[in-house]
Amino acid sequence: MVALQPSNWDDPDRPDVYAAEDDFVEQTGVDMLPRVDVPGFVAQVLADAGLDIPLPVLVFDLPRDLRMGGYHHSPTGEIHLRDEPKIDAELVLHEVAHHIVGSRPSHGIVFRSCLAMLVEAVCGPQERDLFCNCLRERGLDVFMWHRFACSGRLQ
Ligand SMILES: [Zn+2]
Repeated sequence: MVALQPSNWDDPDRPDVYAAEDDFVEQTGVDMLPRVDVPGFVAQVLADAGLDIPLPVLVFDLPRDLRMGGYHHSPTGEIHLRDEPKIDAELVLHEVAHHIVGSRPSHGIVFRSCLAMLVEAVCGPQERDLFCNCLRERGLDVFMWHRFACSGRLQ
């Protein structure tokens, strides 16, 4: 049985984070965050972000007509996605950010800052700033998560 209601559904920041993501995609255009082949994209994102952490387990088990595109299940490290060959990059980045920050408050400042870092890793620093502005316009704060801060590769 697939749990279609993730445990973070009651997070008060969730709707505003979703809206800020939509604002960002609208302002940058779909070329910046196209539909992607998920396994290769996830591995590339983590490498680009300098994160030497286990890859999430990808499970393509959500019905294609389900409005929710995906969710991360913290206890198992699984990312559940719609059963489609390609998925919106923005959605994948969102779930990868959940994978990185784990069970911290779902869409809180640590999650948002991690997601902004991933946006920079994939799109660039200008797009990161644009995404942060989209968050702030929705009343959501964010801090600068430097990409090397948690990589352990500075030695
Ligand atoms: Zn989420």
